[in-house]
This record gives sequence, C-alpha cells and structure tokens, in this order.
Amino acid sequence: MTEALKDIKELKNLIEDSDNILLISHINPDGDAIGAQLALYHYLLSRGKEAAMMAPNNLQEFLKWMDGANKIHIFIRQRDKCRELIQKSDLIIMLDFNQSNRLGEAEKLVIASEAKKVIIDHHLNPVSFSDILISDPTACSTSEIVYRVVSGINAGPFISRAYAEALYVGIITDTGNFDHGNFSGSTFRIVADLLETDIEKDRIQNLIYNNFSAGRMRLLGYSMYQKMVVLPEYQTAYISLSKAELASFDYVKGDTEGFVNMPLSISGIHFSVLFIEKDGFVKLSFRSKGSFPSNLFASEFFYGGGHLNASGGEYPDTLENTINYFHKVLRENFNRLNPAV
Ligand code: 5GP
Ligand code: MN
Repeated sequence: MTEALKDIKELKNLIEDSDNILLISHINPDGDAIGAQLALYHYLLSRGKEAAMMAPNNLQEFLKWMDGANKIHIFIRQRDKCRELIQKSDLIIMLDFNQSNRLGEAEKLVIASEAKKVIIDHHLNPVSFSDILISDPTACSTSEIVYRVVSGINAGPFISRAYAEALYVGIITDTGNFDHGNFSGSTFRIVADLLETDIEKDRIQNLIYNNFSAGRMRLLGYSMYQKMVVLPEYQTAYISLSKAELASFDYVKGDTEGFVNMPLSISGIHFSVLFIEKDGFVKLSFRSKGSFPSNLFASEFFYGGGHLNASGGEYPDTLENTINYFHKVLRENFNRLNPAV
C-alpha cells in the first residue's frame, strides 16, 4: 500500500460525513477514468451512500455498456443539472487527473465549490487544487489506486460484480491490454483478485476490443496506409485526420482509440503522434517508447501533459498549420529532449 493511511482514514471520514458526494472524471474520459469513477460509485452504493457522477464531455462509445455509465451526467449537455450537482455537493472526488483544466468547461464551478475536494490519480506532477491528494504515478491506472484505497477503507469481501468489472476495465484499458509496460506485480495481484470474482473477462474483452464498426476498421487501414508519415531522422511517425476524413468513415467517438500506439511497433520509431481536427483546434495524442519524454513535448508546445510515454495536448490552429508547427518544434527540440542522442 503506497497510499498514506492518514489520507485513506481522512477520506473514509469525509465519505461518512458527506450527504452529497459527486464523482468527477476528466475531459474525454477514457476507460480508466470511467472505470475508477464507476467503481467508486458502486462501492459507495454498497455502503448505502448515494453518489452522483459527472464528466466534462461525452464518453467514448465503447464504454457506454458499463454498469452505471448511463448515470454519468455530461456537463456540456446538461449544464443546469451539473451546476446544481456541483453546488449542492459537500464532497467532490476527482478521478484520473491532476490539473484543473482537465475539468473542461466545468473548471470554474468546481474550483469555486465549497465542497471538500479529493483527487485520486496516477499522473506525474500533480498540481494541488484539492484538500486530499491521493497520487501514485507508479500505479498503472487510477483504477488500481481505487482498488487499494477501497480495500484500505473496507477490508470486507468483494463489493459487487459491477465494482470489479469497472476496475478491470480501467486496468486493461490503461495498460493497453497489458501491453504498455506500466503494470507491476501489484497490478497482477489486483487482477487476480478481480478474476476470482464473477466478472466475465471474455465478455468484457469483446465489449472493449471487438465491438467496433466496419467504418472504424477501414479508418484504421486508411490511417496506416495513406496517412502515416514516417520521419526516420527523428525516430518519429505521425498520422493526421481531418474532420472530413473522419466523417467519410462514419466516425463515432472512440474510433481512433489505439491508433497512435501502432507506429511504435515500427523498428526505430520511438515517438508517435496522432492529430485529430476539431472545431477551431487540433487534438494531439503522443506516445513514446523508451526515455523520450512525450509529456514534456506535450506541455512545452501543445498546452498539455500526461505520462512519460503517453500524453496529449491541443493546438488552437488549423490542421495544416498545426502539422507545420509540429515539424518546426520537433526539428528544433528533438536532440535536446531525446536523451538517447
Ligand atoms: P490520449 O492520447 O489517450 O487521449 O491521452 C493519453 C494521456 O495523455 C491521458 O491519459 C492523459 O494523461 C494525457 N492527456 C491527453 N490529453 C491531454 C491534455 O489535453 N492535457 C493534459 N494535461 N493531459 C492530456
Ligand atoms: Mn488513467
């Protein structure tokens, strides 16, 4: 247990003393954010605590089947309801992020709220905007930390199938199905516990990884064959997709999940970038292997951050200008950032 017992005790007391608990995941919530949020929700329910849930924007399609996902209020679609939830809460628990801008358009309201605030997270360099910070950057996922924290609060038997399923989804998605190397012995001990409950791992595997449209498969083929640019001199490859290209493949949210990892399987490629055109800006995903700090690249040049090997950011310009700017900053900073050169 890496989490301070003091923090766990304090969280336990806060939960007991609070009548209106709000669980919040980050903007563009991924499997770990939603898994950690739902797991905590199911734990609280099992303790007779009614909790509300909110996310800054929509869930990816492949997560919508999860038990309780339909109870997550989406800030940009239900502003009034979410404002009410934020204002009436006496305890806000934030999951899988440690910078307040990851709250998206809900940031100001959450920061202004008088509720006690708790962050449970595994990203590097937390910025303090909570009363309690439970942070472990060595954990593979926030779901792993939630498991440890809940086990610390509640030594009893397994909470519920929905709880175990949510944690399992968080762990498999944030480890890239145990491929990213960010897991540890502790992860597998937790997974062993989860698999000994009545969760159906094959069903979960199919719902997460084998549940896409034909359009998504064709978009993947198109991205790799037509759109991947390889820059061997910078050990880098990137893919860019415009709104029109996405639309022509009947894109739904979540369809490009995982694309950015694929160029890293090319020998000699250590840095991979995916550019997705949005309204008025470009969303970037970064992945690296080895010691290239993708998160520094994201924070220095693209208003973002994340983990050493998996990070993201955005840039307020057209797709074309963003790609040109990327070439420029890569050329000018690659040698400085790349410890291997
Ligand atoms: P993804 O590429 O899967 O969207 O994001 C990978 C990781 O990068 C996330 O888990 C998160 O840690 C980080 N990340 C993605 N986008 C942003 C962003 O705009 N700002 C920050 N600070 N981190 C981001
Ligand atoms: Mn995570």
